Parts: sequence; structure tokens; C-alpha cells
Amino acid sequence: MLSKVLTGATYGVNAYLVDVETHIEKQIPGFSIVGLPDNAVRESRERITAAVKNCGFEFPIKKITINLAPADIKKEGSAFDLPMALGILAATGQVTPEVLGDFVLVGELALDGTLRPVHGALPLALEVRKQKIKGMVVPRENGKEAAMVEEVAVYPMSSLKETVEFLNADHARLAPLKVDVREIFSHDQKHMSDFADVKGQENVKRALEVAAAGGHNIIMIGPPGSGKTMLAKRLPSILPPLSFEEALETTKIHSVAGQLPPDTALVATRPFRSPHHTISDAALVGGGTIPRPGEISLSHHGVLFLDELPEFARNVLEVLRQPLEDGRVTISRSKLSVEYPANFMLVCAMNPCLCGYYTDPSRECTCTGQQIQKYMAKISGPLLDRIDLHIEVPAVKYKELSSKVSGEGSERIRARVICAREVQTDRFKGRKGLYANTDMQSKDIREYCKLDAAGEELLKMAITKLGLSARAYDRILKVGRTIADMVESPYIRPEHISEAIQYRSLDRNLSP
Ligand SMILES: [Zn+2]
Repeated sequence: MLSKVLTGATYGVNAYLVDVETHIEKQIPGFSIVGLPDNAVRESRERITAAVKNCGFEFPIKKITINLAPADIKKEGSAFDLPMALGILAATGQVTPEVLGDFVLVGELALDGTLRPVHGALPLALEVRKQKIKGMVVPRENGKEAAMVEEVAVYPMSSLKETVEFLNADHARLAPLKVDVREIFSHDQKHMSDFADVKGQENVKRALEVAAAGGHNIIMIGPPGSGKTMLAKRLPSILPPLSFEEALETTKIHSVAGQLPPDTALVATRPFRSPHHTISDAALVGGGTIPRPGEISLSHHGVLFLDELPEFARNVLEVLRQPLEDGRVTISRSKLSVEYPANFMLVCAMNPCLCGYYTDPSRECTCTGQQIQKYMAKISGPLLDRIDLHIEVPAVKYKELSSKVSGEGSERIRARVICAREVQTDRFKGRKGLYANTDMQSKDIREYCKLDAAGEELLKMAITKLGLSARAYDRILKVGRTIADMVESPYIRPEHISEAIQYRSLDRNLSP
């Protein structure tokens, strides 16, 4: 009266296999589960009992013991419902054991035996492939996601009953779910929003193109209604398209976070995340008793947009510093520590002052000088240090808004961005951790961003005359390098430097 069923769970963004061992003996009836946290056990037991009975199977009035092995890794509850129910049915002869070893099974059970979707189906499919197991059974909503791993035979099921019929007989005649991975990938790569929809704001669009070309973080400063959010939202459409590997990596994170919409196969476009300024530090970087990826990891390979930057709590902005440096985040709990990737472009936006209209020529700013100073002081210096471009977004003129001419489309801008990225890929070939100009450290800047005498002179003048800080120096060189790469110029010329100097608004006083 012993059975074994294969299932799996995630740890960070990866999955591992779990054995569900069920032992049933003729003793005083009871149902105990070993290897799960207490409250999860209680809930699972009730769902399993009800689902087994409601699907017309016999629930044994005996002593049931279920062990989830390995025991030393902390597991979450609901995805084990299905394998545990099957373990009971196998130990009581209601499921034939022949093919049990061929499939990894996951699913949460509703009381009527319907299967509910689970987190982490994609990482689990990758592990199933690695362990060379024939196939997996998943809730229907997780089917496409798991089927992205082509070598694994994926069987989506709707209920416990259907799964039992599959294991007992139908596995011989049912074909696994096949999806055209390349077709889905190229189809889903289309962007919904395009820069062609943005009228005017040519300077801002140029700055965003520079940011995209060098992978630089950027902050936009402008009055309400100037279109900062609309502009930021379109940034992913001009970044180079995700490679299939990057898409899989991003999808894994969304999958374990339970953020993949049902019936979605892949996150095929660069994510754009814009958490509200009331977000907690745990929700931003990840956390919880069972750690979950935060917004910075959901933005992996994409854009994290923080609108109204000064409104974010200071401690929330502080936790961004390390991930911005490392491209990943480690979440430590008493017994475990989990690492999530978090390589994203940071885009921030803010009003120029408390009332919002300091730089708007058509509206009166009602702030006092002291209020403006206090407002600007709210943004954390160390965070600002990681932002290469500052750009003022002016209020849109009526003439531009009503113009019938549409702006340049994202596809054309993206083509230029890709060219500039190729220059960087060539330059940094063989250099670990260096992919785009934004990744350059001080010594790389010395090596790759040499100026001629005229450029040197110009930069020196800017630093003294405009009162730019010393830290602005490196930022200007990096951005100058990107602007030069955009025209495939091996040298950073004075005109590249002077444009880069334009993108340091916050180092100067804002111009009303
Ligand atoms: Zn104001």
C-alpha cells in the first residue's frame, strides 16, 4: 500500500523535483502530510479529501501518511494537491502505477476536483527536460507555458478525473500539446504602443533614444501632463528585441511570481513595470515569508519606471542601489537565501517642484524657493548617482498637440539603437559584465572614452562654468561615448560632448 508520484517545486527562479510518497495502512483513520508548512498542510488535506470524493473515487478510511522528499527544502502547498491526491489513488489501486514514473504532475485542486493553475510551470518544465523525464501533466492554463520547452511532452488537464483517466488509459492515445514556439515568439514580439503616437517632444525622444542606445538610466523632469509616462511606456519599443533566451529568463521570473497571465506562453517583449509610489521595499525588490520576486525582477531585461520619484519612501529608494549595481538581488531569510535576476533600465520621472509648474511658462508656480529646494532634496543622492541622463520635459505646446503629422515610428528608432548596440558589443567583446556603455566602470571610461583637446577643453569649461559636479564628469563621458557610437564615430567629438552636457539638468539649476 505504498505509492510514489513525481512532482516539483521552485526555488528562486529554478525548479527541483519532489517525490510524493504515500503510505496507507489499516489503522485508526487519519491523514498526515510530512514536509510542508502547517497551514498549507491543513488546507491541502481538505481540498484533496473533497476533490477525491467529488470526482467519484473512494477516499480510504484508513491511516494515510504522505511524505514529500527531499524534506530539507521548504516547499509551498497548493501545487502538490494533484500529486498527493494521485498518490492516495495509486496506493489504493484506483490509479495503475505503470506510467507514474514517466510524468511530473502539478496542480492545485478545487473542491470539485477541477485543476487550478500553479506558479512556476516553465522552470519546472526546464527541470523535467534536464532530468530526462518523458513528460508532465499541468493544469490547462499552464499548458502553453510548459510547452515552450519543446523536448518535454506536456499534457494539459482540466480535472483530477481527467488526469486519472489519462494515467490509467488515455496516455497511450493522447498527443501532447504542441505549440509553435518560434511563431508564438515572433507574433508576441509586437509592441502595442509606438513613438509615432507621441507628438512633439523631439528633444525628449532623442534623449530616450540615447538612453536606449547605451542602456543608460534616465530621469525626466517636467510639469504634469507633459507626457512623461506616455514617453516612458514607449521605451521598450525602441530597445533591441528580446532574444529567445532572454525571453525564457524573463518568463521564468514572471512564472514563479504568478504574474504570467493564464494561457500565456512567453513574455516576448521587454517588460515595462511602473509600481505606484506607495510600494513597500519588499514589493519593490522582492521578499515575503516565502520569497517572491519583486518589481525589479519582474522588470528584468526591461524597464522599471518610477513616476513621481520624490514621493517614494526614502528606504524604498535605498534598496534599489545594490541591485542597480549588481543586476540581481539576494533575499535572505532566517533559513534560506534566494537570488533573483534584476537587470533593468531605470526610468524615473518627477515634477520640477511641489506644485508641478516651476518650468511651465503658461502656468504660475506657487512654490517658495525653500519648498522647491526641499522637494528636490527628496531624491536620494546615491540613486541619482546611478542615473546618467537628466532631461527636462517641457509642457506640450497646443500647436504640436493639434498637429496632424505623426512622430517617427519606434521601428526606425530601434534600428538605429541596434546599430549603436552592435558597436558596443564589438568594443566589449571578451569583457565580462560589459555589454553596453552604461556598464563601464571608472577604469573602462579612462580606456574607452578618450577626448581630443577640443573635447577636453569643452568639458573642463562646462564643469567650471555650469558648476557641474565631479561625478557628472564620468556620466558625461559615458553618454558622450554612446552619442558617438550612434554615428559610428570612433572618437568622441566636441559635438557629442556638448550634447551629453545637455543631459545633466539636475546638476544645474532648472530653467523656468
Ligand atoms: Zn511650484
